Amino acid sequence: MKKKAIITGAAGFLGSHLVKELLNDGFQVIGIDNLCSGKIENIAPYLHAPGFSFIREDVGHRDFEYDPLFDEVDHVYHLASPASPKFYQKYPIETIQVNTVGTHNMLEIARRNDASFLFTSTSEAYGDPEVHPQPEEYRGNVNTWGPRACYDESKRLGEAYCYEYNKQFGARAKVVRLFNTYSAGLRNDDGRVISNFVMQALTGEDITVYGDGSQTRSFCYVDDTIRALRLAMEKDSATGQIINIGNPAEYSILRVAEMIKSLTNSRSEIVFMPLPQDDPKVRRPVITKAIELLDWSPRIELEEGLIRTINTYKNQLCKISI
Ligand code: UDP
Repeated sequence: MKKKAIITGAAGFLGSHLVKELLNDGFQVIGIDNLCSGKIENIAPYLHAPGFSFIREDVGHRDFEYDPLFDEVDHVYHLASPASPKFYQKYPIETIQVNTVGTHNMLEIARRNDASFLFTSTSEAYGDPEVHPQPEEYRGNVNTWGPRACYDESKRLGEAYCYEYNKQFGARAKVVRLFNTYSAGLRNDDGRVISNFVMQALTGEDITVYGDGSQTRSFCYVDDTIRALRLAMEKDSATGQIINIGNPAEYSILRVAEMIKSLTNSRSEIVFMPLPQDDPKVRRPVITKAIELLDWSPRIELEEGLIRTINTYKNQLCKISI
């Protein structure tokens, strides 16, 4: 019999990549999405594919109902949540609900079926970190009373749900903390740094660096991230664990702007704009646990990933202008 997987956030950036991969590997896939930040276009090619069912629903609702389709499920990937600051700040309550009530709802499904459960948490669990780089044991420096709290704190509570389900019910819950992930699969209005800079560079608009650009991030190409999600799901070594997933190569945002300007041969100017409140100053994962437990490390470095991203966005822009 085919293995069955549920993917929440199936129409999102990571979810839609996972739908494609799991269908290719012969899984029966149930995709759930409320299309708040996900786009149906992302999964349009699979909507009528054999083995794929799509449910448009908000898994963060308290009255989210158990569907017979969820019976005999093997894997539950709980990816649903806006992830770009632009979107989670537009939908703060929905973000809190999906990462807390939604995590609870999906853990229940996993528990009833004795399925493996993967929750995508975030490097934002570390807030504006005072320990650098960040190992999983670092407890973070999160502002509970600010514009990022809806995301950071709800992901942290989602982690606590996973902890309790694992300890109390023996649920096979696993948590990955994803650091910044990118590719051209991000919406071009996503608002995150790579999609903004690439679109700006390709269209000749100013490249908008927030602050002085000295803040750093570590960028992981989507293929590497998806490989990590699948390994975490498959491997028993990840059960009851929190594992950082990211590329430890750290870049300042100004350097990223310069790289993109140069790789696109763009005439855009780099301009400086106010830094958003609570913007973390540094971010870089320690990935020893991912290496040891999952035998995973990233393969695609930033320049290579940027070239792929730029080429895809360029083709999309060409199609629009034809
Ligand atoms: N950023 C920027 N210009 C932009 C978008 C983002 O300088 O047009 C900065 C942002 O202030 C942050 C970093 O890039 O320091 C990464 O932002 P993003 O929204 O991609 O993700 P975050 O890591 O903050 O969640």
